[in-house]
Amino acid sequence: MSDPTSQKPERRMRPCPICSKLSTPADYPFCSDRCAKVDLNRWFSEGYSIPVVETDDLDENDFPDEA
Ligand SMILES: [Zn+2]
Repeated sequence: MSDPTSQKPERRMRPCPICSKLSTPADYPFCSDRCAKVDLNRWFSEGYSIPVVETDDLDENDFPDEA
């Protein structure tokens, strides 16, 4: 009693992380080349927008001169 709709002989198809459509083997894990590029751009934009961690702690406040 195997349900052909729930059992797949090949790897499981995951939904596209961009639009949640079923992914295609050609553009796995995305559903299309477009979504793959969207994800790529997302990564790039995030990478470029990573805020530079400045050492705000190292300030004159570390040495409170006026007590
Ligand atoms: Zn998609």
